[in-house]
Amino acid sequence: MNNKPVRVRFAPSPTGPLHAGGVRTALYNYLFARQQGGQMLLRIEDTDQNRYVPGAEAYILEALEWLGIGIDEGPQQGGPHAPYRQSERKEMYREYAERLVQEGKAYYAFDTPEQLDDMRKRLEAAKVAAVQYNAITRTEMTNSLTLSAEETKARLESGDPYVIRMKIQPKEDVRFNDLIRGWVVVHSSQIDDKVLLKSDGMPTYHLANIVDDHLMGITHVIRGEEWLPSAPLHVLLYRYLGWESTMPQFAHLPLLLKPDGNGKLSKRDADLGGFPIFPLEWTDPNTGEKARGFREEGYLPGATANFLALLGWNAGTEQEIFSMDELVASFSFDRVHKAGARFDIQKANWFNQQYLKQLDDAAIIEELKPLYDAKGITVNQDQLTQIVHLLKDRVHFIKEIVSESLFLFAAPEEYDQDVVIKKWNEEAVNAIGAFKDALAGFNGTFVAHDIKEVLSATMESAGIKMGKIMQALRLAVTGAGAGPDLMIIMEILGKGEVVSRLETALSRLSAQIRLA
Ligand code: GLU
Repeated sequence: MNNKPVRVRFAPSPTGPLHAGGVRTALYNYLFARQQGGQMLLRIEDTDQNRYVPGAEAYILEALEWLGIGIDEGPQQGGPHAPYRQSERKEMYREYAERLVQEGKAYYAFDTPEQLDDMRKRLEAAKVAAVQYNAITRTEMTNSLTLSAEETKARLESGDPYVIRMKIQPKEDVRFNDLIRGWVVVHSSQIDDKVLLKSDGMPTYHLANIVDDHLMGITHVIRGEEWLPSAPLHVLLYRYLGWESTMPQFAHLPLLLKPDGNGKLSKRDADLGGFPIFPLEWTDPNTGEKARGFREEGYLPGATANFLALLGWNAGTEQEIFSMDELVASFSFDRVHKAGARFDIQKANWFNQQYLKQLDDAAIIEELKPLYDAKGITVNQDQLTQIVHLLKDRVHFIKEIVSESLFLFAAPEEYDQDVVIKKWNEEAVNAIGAFKDALAGFNGTFVAHDIKEVLSATMESAGIKMGKIMQALRLAVTGAGAGPDLMIIMEILGKGEVVSRLETALSRLSAQIRLA
């Protein structure tokens, strides 16, 4: 088992958009496969027709691609074990269920929904702790263990609906060594006689999952903690099918928790908090309801993957920023936590800011153009370059550059009153008046460095310390008391616009001058 090349699979059910936990599962599978020089499979587990949602598979593929999670074998890539969609493999599963029946490890059960319901009520009334179809209760139900061989045969031939159930042997220890949780031991009496083949002939998740993992040569099953309770059953299935010696190793990943750490993260938390938990935007085809996506909210794919990778894992060092290659190199199950990981969107924002800083200006400009277009703002290439320099380090998202730069395209309509009250005094008004006149008479190139020289020369001859009037000057130019480099702002605005804004402020705020 240990020398086999690593083969892992991401096995989502196309029942809706992939949430952050699912994406993280895919990511860890991918990291481990790449690190081990193995293969990463994508298998679509769509045997449950009732839960099938159109568009979900395409969504999953697009999300993985956006995040750079490469797939070696799958529905689109093909591969030696095609098809990779369980609905296209459905004929394959029955044989294994039937084989278990032949070997006495499974049985046909003909119980009607009413009979099952009666059993449940009877056991509940008798205060039985585990209301289950199991070694005890199966003896009172309608199945091939209680019916004669002839009757079973007759029922099968007459087309009576039936399922195939696993015949769990009581009093067996089921154990496996989880790569994250260590030894997990469960007593088989706690496991019920799970249905393997449904009455419509389709396999259940359990059967299809184990058969496929075996046939596809999967060496490691890396999946969410919600599957941990199913794992003992899966171990038994491997045992009953005679495949225990090549059984994959299990790694059950910690849950993603709400931002406050209390309970499992849900879509409701995302809606209430106004943040995404899905990689891409999703519109429910049945209800039309929309869910936010990291991509559409403006998170960069690298930042998103980095954020998700650190939900439940760390390298054991201070390092937080990891390229995909670095993640591949550093990932290990030893450092995946057992406890749930708190989903902190502030951290995602921080990652986005770090990735944005690293991004080429040209790439940012490409993204910015349509955003300005959408606002009906015309900007040329030079202005875009200047704006990116001005704001790139101050924002978390590219779209914020647009909202933070609107003041460049329209003179202030109002002035921050707190700043007016504190800083708009006689001295400032005199200084700004003098600066305005100096600018009007300035004939050099209107660039930040020279603007600053004009300002300091003017202040020097007026005998005013620059530091005392800078906030008032900013207020006059932008309407606000704080922001990015004012000299560059003035350069971007151009001489005419700056002079006009200064004039406007001097006249509009003339009634509000404070005594110095
Ligand atoms: N189809 C299951 C899911 O939707 C797969 C669980 C597993 O990886 O075994 O998560």
